[in-house]
Order: sequence, then structure tokens, then C-alpha cells
Amino acid sequence: MTKWVYTFGDGAAEGRADMKNLLGGKGANLAEMASLGLPVPPGLTITTEVCTYYYDNGQKYPESLKADVDAAVEKIEKSVGAKFGDAKNPLLVSVRSGARVSMPGMMDTVLNLGLNDQTVEGLAAMSGNERFAWDSYRRFIQMYSDVVLGVDHYHFEELIEMHKEDKGVDLDTDLTAEDWKLLAGQFKAKTEEELGRPFPQDVQEQLWGAISAVFGSWQIERAKVYRRLNNIPESWGTAVNVQAMVFGNMGDTSATGVAFTRDPSTGENEYYGEYLINAQGEDVVAGIRTPQNLTKRAREAAGATAPSMEESMPEVFGQLADVFVKLERHYKDMQDIEFTVQHGKLWMLQTRNGKRTAKAALKIAVDMVAEGLIDEKTAVLRVEPAALDQLLHPTLDPDAPRDLLTRGLPASPGAASGAVVFTADDAEAWAKDGRDVILCRLETSPEDIHGMHAAKGILTARGGMTSHAAVVARGMGRPCVSGAGQLRIDAKTETLVCMGREVKKGEKITIDGATGEVMVGAVKTLQPELAGDFASLMVWADKYRKLRVRTNADTPGDTQTARDFGAEGIGLCRTEHMFFEGDRIVAVREMILAEAVDGRKRALAQLLPMQRGDFVAIFKIMRGLPVTIRLLDPPLHEFLPREDDEFEDVAKAMGTTADLLKRRAAELHEFNPMLGHRGCRLGITYPEIYEMQARAIFEAAVEVEKETGDTVVPEIMIPLVATEKELAILRARVEAMAEEVFAEKGHTLTYMVGTMIELPRAAICADQIANSADFFSFGTNDLTQTAIGISRDDAGRFLEEYVRKDIFAIDPFVSIDQDGVGALVKLGAERGRSTKPNLKLGICGEHGGDPASVEFCHGAGLDYVSCSPYRVPIARLAAAQAALKG
Ligand code: PEP
Ligand code: MG
Repeated sequence: MTKWVYTFGDGAAEGRADMKNLLGGKGANLAEMASLGLPVPPGLTITTEVCTYYYDNGQKYPESLKADVDAAVEKIEKSVGAKFGDAKNPLLVSVRSGARVSMPGMMDTVLNLGLNDQTVEGLAAMSGNERFAWDSYRRFIQMYSDVVLGVDHYHFEELIEMHKEDKGVDLDTDLTAEDWKLLAGQFKAKTEEELGRPFPQDVQEQLWGAISAVFGSWQIERAKVYRRLNNIPESWGTAVNVQAMVFGNMGDTSATGVAFTRDPSTGENEYYGEYLINAQGEDVVAGIRTPQNLTKRAREAAGATAPSMEESMPEVFGQLADVFVKLERHYKDMQDIEFTVQHGKLWMLQTRNGKRTAKAALKIAVDMVAEGLIDEKTAVLRVEPAALDQLLHPTLDPDAPRDLLTRGLPASPGAASGAVVFTADDAEAWAKDGRDVILCRLETSPEDIHGMHAAKGILTARGGMTSHAAVVARGMGRPCVSGAGQLRIDAKTETLVCMGREVKKGEKITIDGATGEVMVGAVKTLQPELAGDFASLMVWADKYRKLRVRTNADTPGDTQTARDFGAEGIGLCRTEHMFFEGDRIVAVREMILAEAVDGRKRALAQLLPMQRGDFVAIFKIMRGLPVTIRLLDPPLHEFLPREDDEFEDVAKAMGTTADLLKRRAAELHEFNPMLGHRGCRLGITYPEIYEMQARAIFEAAVEVEKETGDTVVPEIMIPLVATEKELAILRARVEAMAEEVFAEKGHTLTYMVGTMIELPRAAICADQIANSADFFSFGTNDLTQTAIGISRDDAGRFLEEYVRKDIFAIDPFVSIDQDGVGALVKLGAERGRSTKPNLKLGICGEHGGDPASVEFCHGAGLDYVSCSPYRVPIARLAAAQAALKG
């Protein structure tokens, strides 16, 4: 029989930390903590399999579930010494979601469940605190009505506000037991008015209502968006945790908090966290009250006056510190913890591996190796390659002038500038139009997630370092400044006001998530570099990876950046970009528009020294590392003049008229240029273009070899080959040019001629094509376009919806479609090597910098991946992880 329910508490548990798939992250770790003998309130976990069952069976539960839950609740009752629904001695529980991976704030939670008109009296008597009991009851009605019954919480907020006004008080803390009692009555009446039936008094009905609400929340919109952004499959489902309540709001010896065993922002080995005295957990996370620091050190650093937990509750803090040490030794990773103190007793409510910035991830991994907690391989596997992107983002130039507006908490590092917007929808809409935006909110809620994703940075006026905004921003790698308390955000007039200064919607600001500074205007930024922990981890990654990592670069500047990031060669130098530079474009246009070979040759002769100069610069920077240069690829019409004055310029240079040139340009028009006269088809029909390029490459290589003594081995790459014949013809011409140049210069060198595999036919006929190729480089941009039959330039219009509908799990231009395009890559590799076992294989499409695609390339037996300069470190780490996962 399937076991649907697992219990934990009193130093024992039926589950374990490695049962996350079944128990969810929260449930599995509660079980583990209970087994470790840590103080965990007893509870039960309903498995994720029940969630799957629930959705597969028209939202019905397995038959035995009710009995299993009853038995587990009885166990909790015994442990606590209270009874669920008992008027004198009631057991209260929390009901929370818990998926395999944490989805902060995305799904529902109900606290204080088990309260009704009778049990509230029991709670008052038991706790000796009538105010606490009625406050708990009204919170429960509010939360349950909102989450389970769908009565919006503003109804209740309104009643509280009205009551405070009647009494002439400002704060919730000014309200007495009598006030809360009265409000609880009004809340129930409100719910009844909205629903047409009374608020449920039966505790069993309450419990099953909450359980169903948690399972139901797996399918609400914000949870779906979160899953899509984080690649969490729908099939995983969530577990439900029902746990005895402990109260952090029982007075001044009670508290609640969240903590990290190390600083999640910097990775420093210091306890880090926040707590609130006399509060319930949700108060900390929701960012409603700004919490106090955990440690004295952090309080002093922040210049805060409210006492830290270390100072106000030294004994409990000591116990907490012991728990931190125990948990880190056990899990061998930084932990993110929730705790509650009830009347001076510590209770652990959650532990999980803490989310952290990339900077912190690197520092923690490298430090833990030094501390002997983990080995190098584990460290390499600990850092998510895509997260390195955060460190490869610009930081503010310390010397740039800045106009400081205000300061908040440094919630997620990185600097960003953009236009101010005030709603998540605006952020999304403006970003779609290509504008950089900073999303400014009083506080963010889980509904804002799409806007946070679209924004370059996030700024909030309220909330601490563990507020929703901070946690989500760090997870996404978005710079974030939170809790900028001096800011007034006026959503109506769409302005930010700060000490008399005003910033309107659309005006630019800059935020620095590393320092918490907010500046008016755009501030100059600096490029990142690879040093410290980052460099150490890269050295380990390089030790274990099998794939080489090259870069796609076509300017000396990009080439240098890529070298600095550890590129081991150039996998793709697109020569067409060089054609646009400076006044070259006029010569390029002359070449294209020439009526006959002579004119074309004249124009190409002007381009030759310029191309040679480009290649000399690149060969010099790469110092003997392999450089793959691709001959001209795009359809010629991309270079054509568009404006009248551009036609005039070219006409003058060619001694002809603009009208004639326009006619010639019209002749070059193609209906489907991506499938048109481009790639090697240009080389076949206009031999002199590739001849010029080959000459420029060989002359440059000879020059650099002679001058520097480095060995230069150019790899000449022919694009868009479909048949062996094309390559054979073009190869012969390149070889002839090599002989010509070598004879002229009296200097020979080694070189290679290869091709891109970027058409399905090329992959299928790779065994034939390999006869004429020294290497293959998979051009997975065009291969994706031609294999799936979707345009690289236009597919964006519908691909987003395809991804939303799960037709593609992820955009196939971003991460390789392994089943389709990937199969062609594998086929091409196998067939190519069946002809030439040592054929060098690489990839140079955008996928070369995508971690999942890099892992795929490792598995397909490629020799190298090539990606844009800033993604080189990401690819190095992804390649190492692929090798280690093996
Ligand atoms: C490709 O098609 O994958 C490729 C690298 O070439 P381009 O993007 O220049 O077409
Ligand atoms: Mg291509």
C-alpha cells in the first residue's frame, strides 16, 4: 500500500532529507532536523504523490488518506499534550506547502488552524493571555478566509482601520483583547456576508479546507509563472505540511526570525539574519515591520539602534548558534533557517540550503574547501554556472560622478540603470519595447514576479534583506535595493519622492545592489574581472573539464575580453561584422553592386588590407591559440544602402548614378534571404570574395608568425554547406590561395579548412562532407532554424506562447532542442567521425554558452564549445560539471 503520510517530532521521523521528491524540501528537512534531535514542533507531511493523485483524479484524495491523517494528528496531539478541536486544551496547527525546491511566497500557508468560538477561550485560558488568543483567532479568520475561502484580505484590513479610527488609535498594538474579540466577530460576519455561509467552526472542515487550498495553490497563476521561470516541471506537485503551532507572538520573551548560517549576499562566514520580538513568522517575510538584526556586529555595521537578538536574548541566541554549527556540519552547506522562540524556548521551523548570490556561492564553496567540509569537486558542482552571469555584470565606476538620492539595504548585488516604473505590468510592457527599467514598489508581492523578471533592477521602500523582493531578486540575479525607508512611492501620481526631490515615471535612476545606493540619472559602470574566489573555482573547473572553451569574437576588443575570461581560442570569427566598420561599408557596397568581376575585384582590393589588419590584431592577441575564421555568410542585401544619401556616396565612389545602383539593388532582393543567396553559395558564385578573404587570412598569419615567432594555425571555415561538392570546390580555391601567398612570402604555415554543420542535410551527409573537412563546427542557430523550420528573426512572436503552453520546455534558440536539433548534432558527429576518426568537432551557435547545452555537447563527444566572451566562464564551469556528473 502506498504511504501517503509521514510523521516527525520528538527526536524521530519517518522521512529523511534525501526524500525531497516525495516529501518536498520543507517536509524532508523537518524530518531530518527532528531525527538530528533538534527542537522541531511535531507534525505530518502529506506527500507530493497525493498532489499528483489529486490532479489526476478530478481533485479527489486517495481513500485511505483521511484515516492516515487522523492517525498522524493523534500522534501530534500526544506529543503536544493537547487535542485538536478541544474546547479546553486545543491543539493548533499550521498548514503549509512545500515543493521539491523552494518557491518563496508562491503558494499558500494557513496558521493558527483549529481555532473557533470555543477553542479560542481554551487558548486564552491556557496561555493566560486573552489578547493573544483573540489576536490569533482574528488572524486565523483573516488568513483562512483569504487563502481558503477566497475573501480578499483588504475587507479585513478595512474593518481594522475603521475600528482604530473609532477608537482614535494608530497602531495594532494599541488594540486590546476586547477590540480583537469584537473584530473577530466582525470578520466572521464579513466572511458570511461575502460567501453566504458561516465561517467554518468544525476543525476537521478547517483542516481539509486548508489542505485542499495548498494543493490548489500549485495551479495558481503566480506559481505557474514561477515554475516557468525556474524550469520546475508541473508534474512535481507540492507536499503539505501540518505542524503543531508554536507562537512567536506570546509577548516579549517570544520572537520569530529567519537566519542564514553565512551571509547570503557576500558569503562571509558570519551568522546573518533578522528577527522580530512578539511576532508571527509571516510578519518577517512579508516586510510589513522592518526587522532587527540577529547579531550585534550586523547591527553595528548597519548603524541600527534596535537591539540585536544576540543582545536581547543572549541565551536563546547561543542555542541558535549551536544549531547553526550542527546543521552546517550535517548538511555541509550554508543553511537558510526559520525559527520561533516561544516563551524563551527555541523551535526550528525550517532549514534548507540557502539561496545565495553568485559571489556568495563562490566564496562559500571556496571557503568550505579550505575548512575541510567539502572537496574541490563538490565545490565545482556547488556553483550554478548560469548564476555566474551576475558577476559578469557591470559594477558602478567608483570615479563616476553620482547624484545620491537615498540609501536602502543592499539586497542583491549588481548595478543597474533604467527608467522608473511603478507596476509590474509597466515593467513588463516597457521591457518588451526594449527599454531598461527599474521597478519601484512600496514592497513587492509574489504577484509582481513577472515585472521583477523584466526589470533591470528592483527598488522597494519597505522590507528587509529577507523580504520577498530581496529573496526573489537574489534568486534571479537582479540587482535590488530594498527597504529604502526615506522614499515615498506615490503610485497614483507615479512619482518617487525623497526629501523634497521628485523622480517621475520614465526618468532614469541607478541602483547599486551591492551598497544599497540609489542615484538620480544613469551612472557609468565598470566591466567585471575574474579574480579571487572566482579565479580559484575556475582553476578547479579547468582541472576536471574535458571540453575546451573557445569564444565567438570578431573584434580585438572582444577577443581580449574573452582571453581575460579564459577562452582557449576563437571558435567563430564572423568576418561580416568587420565589413560594417568605418568607411569600409562603401567599399563593400561597391563590391556588391559592381556589374562585373573587374569592378568587384577593384572594391575587394580596397578591403584586403583592412581585413588583413583585423586578422593580424586577432592572431596577436590569441598568441598561437586556434582561431577559426568564417568566410562571408549573410545575404548580400544586408549590406546594401537604404537611404538616398547612402546610394549617392556609393555612386560617387563607383563613378555611376544612384538610380542605376538602386535598380541593381532591387535585383538583389530576395523573398526568403535566410534560405537564399548566402553562405558558401556566395563563395561558389562570386569566387573573388572568398579569395580576398583567404588571402587576407594567410598574409596576416604569415606576418604574425614572422613578427612574433608564435605558431599561427588559422582554421578557415566555410558556412552553410549542404553538399560535399560545395566544400570540395571552395576548399580547392582556399588551398590554391594558400600556395600563392606562401610562394610570394617565402613562408609556409599549417592551416585547416573546415565547415559549419548548420543544415540538416549537412548533418545527415556528414560522412561525405568530412572527406573535404579538417573540422566541423555545429552552427546550431541556423541548424535550429532549418531543422524546426522556424525563423531565427521572427519566431520570437510566437515562441513565447509555445513555451508557456509547454510545447517547448524552453526556447530552442536559447537551449538546444536535444531531441530534434541535438539528434542532428549527434548524427553529424558520428557520421563525420566515421569518415575521419580524429575530426575536430565544436559548436559555435548561441547554445555554446548555455549550461544545459554545454552538458549536451560534452555527452555528444564534441571537442569544444564556443560562446560569447562574457559567457566563457559559465561554459568553463558547465563543462566541468558535465564531466564530474559524468
Ligand atoms: C549558427 O548558425 O549557429 C552560427 C553560429 O552562425 P550565424 O549565427 O552567424 O548564422
Ligand atoms: Mg549560421
